[in-house]
Amino acid sequence: MRPLSKFRPNGVSVTDLCSQIWCEKQLEFSFTKKRIVTKEMKIGKSRHISLHQELVEIIEIEPKTRVDYLAVKLINCQDAIKSFLTDYIAREIPVWGKLRSLFIVGSIDELKIRGNQTCLIDTKTRHSESIPSEEQKITNRLQVLLYTLLLKKLKNSMFTPRNLLKFYKIRPESDISKYFKKQIISTGKQIDNNILNITRNTFDLIKRIPPISKALTIRYDYKGTGKILAKEIVVYNEKKLIITLSDLEKYWHGKRIARKVPESEKFKCRFCQYEKDCK
Ligand code: SF4
Repeated sequence: MRPLSKFRPNGVSVTDLCSQIWCEKQLEFSFTKKRIVTKEMKIGKSRHISLHQELVEIIEIEPKTRVDYLAVKLINCQDAIKSFLTDYIAREIPVWGKLRSLFIVGSIDELKIRGNQTCLIDTKTRHSESIPSEEQKITNRLQVLLYTLLLKKLKNSMFTPRNLLKFYKIRPESDISKYFKKQIISTGKQIDNNILNITRNTFDLIKRIPPISKALTIRYDYKGTGKILAKEIVVYNEKKLIITLSDLEKYWHGKRIARKVPESEKFKCRFCQYEKDCK
């Protein structure tokens, strides 16, 4: 079975693709072997949650059906884009899209309006006061490039509400559950019953964001103090991104086996939790 159908039938995440560029073999091990969640991963996640909570109140909702689950993501996206259009900043914005042959999902770290442009910012939490290696930077650059292309396709209607529903095999006439609707209304929000309308409303909001800047920011913060260690500006280059994607997708379609790191990047193996399994 192809890795795509076996491990990611609901879409490949941007995080998967970034892990893949670090080491494809390691990504594959993470699907088949127990993955240890390190202290560093937990710290990174909690930093993201606290940054998100600086802007929004997080409310627990209990979706019941597949339609409800998709609706939660769409509502989160709507809320983020609404606050972006009024306050010029939003964090944790869910996005979807088809890039080449892969359906991809992700969550943009931060969007800001600067001048009359939409600027994409990604924050990385560092566990020491050091600057990341070039190989780590390559992974982070791929992440912001992918988010930019996904957002661009949504903004330009190159990925439509029907495309999204078709991928999840959800009929456009499907409704959210009554139980779910009741919970949403109790938070003071209004919501349509129909999933196609909810998707359309979300995508229509995205179309209203200002043009997307070609200068993408990656910020490296030190976990201890939140101090900014470094900022990198990545210039959007779609051609290069498509070349990278066309190589990465071959693995997902089973056109080649997972690659190990090349000799020049063997240093990565020292930090790998699957080193003993990797013959
Ligand atoms: S040991 Fe090295 S080559 Fe093997 S999975 Fe880990 S990082 Fe990749």
